[in-house]
Amino acid sequence: MINNAHIAILCLTHSCNLNCVYCFEKKDSTHELTFEVACQCVDEIIGTNCLKDGNTVNLNLFGGEPLLKFELIKKIYDYVQANYPECNVSFFASTNGTLLSEEMKQWFFERKDKFCLGLSLDGDRDSQNHNRSNSFDAIDIEYFARNWPNQFFKLTISEYSVRNYAHDVKFIHSLGIGVNGGDVCVGNYKWDKEQLYYVYAKQLLELVDYYENNHDVKNSLFEIDLASCTSPRVDRKCCGCGTSISYYETDGNKYPCTFIAPMAFPLKDLQEMLVVDFNDVQNFTDKECKANCYLYNVCRTCAAENYMLHGRFDMYNKRNCGLKKILAIAVAELQARRIAKNPSLYDATKVYHTIEAIKKIKELYVPEYGKYFMEEVENPTTE
Ligand code: SF4
Ligand code: SF4
Repeated sequence: MINNAHIAILCLTHSCNLNCVYCFEKKDSTHELTFEVACQCVDEIIGTNCLKDGNTVNLNLFGGEPLLKFELIKKIYDYVQANYPECNVSFFASTNGTLLSEEMKQWFFERKDKFCLGLSLDGDRDSQNHNRSNSFDAIDIEYFARNWPNQFFKLTISEYSVRNYAHDVKFIHSLGIGVNGGDVCVGNYKWDKEQLYYVYAKQLLELVDYYENNHDVKNSLFEIDLASCTSPRVDRKCCGCGTSISYYETDGNKYPCTFIAPMAFPLKDLQEMLVVDFNDVQNFTDKECKANCYLYNVCRTCAAENYMLHGRFDMYNKRNCGLKKILAIAVAELQARRIAKNPSLYDATKVYHTIEAIKKIKELYVPEYGKYFMEEVENPTTE
């Protein structure tokens, strides 16, 4: 039996108590998962992935804001424990943290080895309050840091908070916590204002200075394996949508992921999307990128976003290629400094290829994008 991890996402509700500036979800209280439908979904998830294929299952309880459905969370947890004690099921819920009562804290604390609560936090008070409905003071940040110290906080940048990105990341790192997010290369960022390139590049450079001497805290944005740029380019799919990921809507219907679902696409589009074979990576490979772009092997792209933009999965969103090149320069600079200072941090088999990639990235992209790191721009007005 194979033993891979399958991520099954179960939507508990479309409701949320916040109104974040970048939220794409259509919030409403008519879409609520019932316990009966939840049990059917859990039976299917565990039956297919755990009992049949031997996979471990990560059951991700999703919203809206999942803590609005705390009673349902408890019942689903108990149902799994009672009916599938032999299966390796871990639980996860991503929350805005504002609804956590003392009773909830105690319940999650007692199950923290099996149930991970992930916090979405955009940084310090100013960014958090601007982006996420003045919620900073309503969150017991320490509670999350103390109980799940290895769980990265999820940080999202808005056009307002990009100017504080480095500060916000360092604020989270000061709690000993890693950061997941800040990737403006994927997502609904329409950054055609060139000023934002200057702002973003300066923030990345500030973080390069910080990470040069701080190896222990991680930021998923900088976790790019540059050495793989030197490998042959093959067809690839960037995520596990429809394969290692499944998403169950509140009515019990199954979709490839949270984005390729009715919350984001009209039914007609969804019907066309769902006939695609998600196991065939060719259906997700942009042939032009594969043939021509040095960053192809490390380019992060979202299949659903590509479809939204082009009506097909195999044409990448190239709107943010400039930002991807800016990020690649920053990562190359950080890795160059680290190799020069402390090569033992690197896997010996990869150092040569990493250095090759650093040289190539600088040669290809610094002439056009280096100015964003060097030059100041006046009035970097965002929002
Ligand atoms: S950076 Fe742009 S051109 Fe290069 S692979 Fe990504 S989407 Fe394609
Ligand atoms: S299609 Fe986009 S949203 Fe869906 S799993 Fe892939 S990267 Fe994530």
